[in-house]
Amino acid sequence: MPEQILVVDDERDMRLLLRYQLEQEGYQIAEASDGKVALRVLQECSPGVIITDVRMPFMSGLELLREVKQASPNIEVIVATGYAEVETAIECLRAGAFDLVRKPFDIHEMYSCVARAVDRYRLNASADMVRMSQSFFATSEFSRIPQSIVEGSQNLMASDAALLAIPDMNGQLQLAHARGLSSEAEATLLRGLCEQVAQALAVDRTPALMGPGLLDRRLGNVVGLGKGSAIFYPLAVGDRLLGVLCLLRRDNQRIFGKRDLDRAAVLSSHVVLALENGRLACQLAASEQLATLGQVAAGIGHEINNPTAYIQSNLDFVDQQLRSLRDGKPVDLDEVALAVKDAREGAHRISDIVRDMRALARTDEDEAGGWFNLNDAIRSALRIARMETTQQASVHAELIDGLVVKGNPGPVSQVFVNLLVNAAQAIAEGAGERKEIRIIARRESDQAVIEVSDTGPGIPPERLHRLFQPFFTTKGTGTGLGLSISRNIVRRFGGDISVRSVPGDGTVFTVSLPAQAQTGS
Ligand code: ADP
Repeated sequence: MPEQILVVDDERDMRLLLRYQLEQEGYQIAEASDGKVALRVLQECSPGVIITDVRMPFMSGLELLREVKQASPNIEVIVATGYAEVETAIECLRAGAFDLVRKPFDIHEMYSCVARAVDRYRLNASADMVRMSQSFFATSEFSRIPQSIVEGSQNLMASDAALLAIPDMNGQLQLAHARGLSSEAEATLLRGLCEQVAQALAVDRTPALMGPGLLDRRLGNVVGLGKGSAIFYPLAVGDRLLGVLCLLRRDNQRIFGKRDLDRAAVLSSHVVLALENGRLACQLAASEQLATLGQVAAGIGHEINNPTAYIQSNLDFVDQQLRSLRDGKPVDLDEVALAVKDAREGAHRISDIVRDMRALARTDEDEAGGWFNLNDAIRSALRIARMETTQQASVHAELIDGLVVKGNPGPVSQVFVNLLVNAAQAIAEGAGERKEIRIIARRESDQAVIEVSDTGPGIPPERLHRLFQPFFTTKGTGTGLGLSISRNIVRRFGGDISVRSVPGDGTVFTVSLPAQAQTGS
């Protein structure tokens, strides 16, 4: 797409000359006869570069430059100055002019200056876009993606307000996040308009532009934006609506125009990717929970089978003793009582395991979490991962009583199951002599700190920083999600997780969680 250049000069011949020369170079030219006219033209088009004379009636080139840089800092301004205007020239540079061109100018010097300014404008625009897009994907908490999208889009498109509406389970558009809205009425108006754009998706999936003198069929005859302008972007993958992004500018100095639509088109493609990515990540978070269960399923079977067999044999013994009693044979009642006690213990073990599994699989817990006893979650994780761990190593737990932490026991126990199973798998890989897994908890002021360490082969330094990235795995059967999801879980509750490792000398994962103040201390 050719870059648009605005030429501002009160001398008509000069404007025509520049238009002729620059059109030859493939640029699209808009003209203005002074600074005030230029500001009006800027409401209708968004040039990447402005070439302005300094001395003009009504508004000088310097004043124009200042206004432009304040409203749209990305636009590059080239100032044409006479030889006698050294001081003005310096002021222009201070005010952010891209460069100065001396009048009367050498056209080749002008070409090269314009080309450099266009390059910088495009570079800045795409760098902004890349930065923003990266911020979407760097959002580790999926629930915060809408906020990151709204904030990024609002800044990038220099809008006063931005709003993202996303369909709920029933397909009804709901406000996912908004920023800069001035009133409830404005929010209701914009959300209603988002809905209209969404309803028309099947027939029109282009963005709707709304502003003074601009009418879009989908929006009907809306009043309420005053002098402001807005863009409504339907976000869709195929026929599936992901949401509508709305950007609003309230003043009539910077009305959204065609160029903004082009920029918003690129923006919306990043937003669509970020939303899809977030949706997928949420699904994966759920499937990771299942994968954790899958990983430990064999062990759990064993955990249940063992006491079941145990209960069975004890009950058989009791049965046999009862029959002896009925036949008048001698019976050792103490032995019978012991068998009943053992059977009961076995039943308790099974119900513990079932309770652990329930907690692990629960998805209906309060997002922010409450306070719970840390030892319960750790013990539950140790029980669940017992088969995996004890087959590979001896397991030592040093827990302290009364440590109450922030979170939900199910997800927190999932974190420890992940760490314990990883530790066991690492030890299974390594050829080290010592085969140990330690889980040690301690209190550090208002934090509970839990270390899970192993004597496995360790992790090379160049790999360490990738461990928490989703899908990073070195295992043939791994999902590479365990650690990234574990980090999300503990961060959700205000904690964190880190790793240190020396190749050949094992690995330590450190989990921290906010701890409740100790009573009586
Ligand atoms: P997965 O276990 O499915 O690979 P994770 O996110 O749990 O996914 O782990 C990512 C990677 O981190 C593993 O593939 C492994 O390379 C490395 N890793 C995790 N824990 C350990 C550990 N205790 N020792 C060595 N490497 C580990």
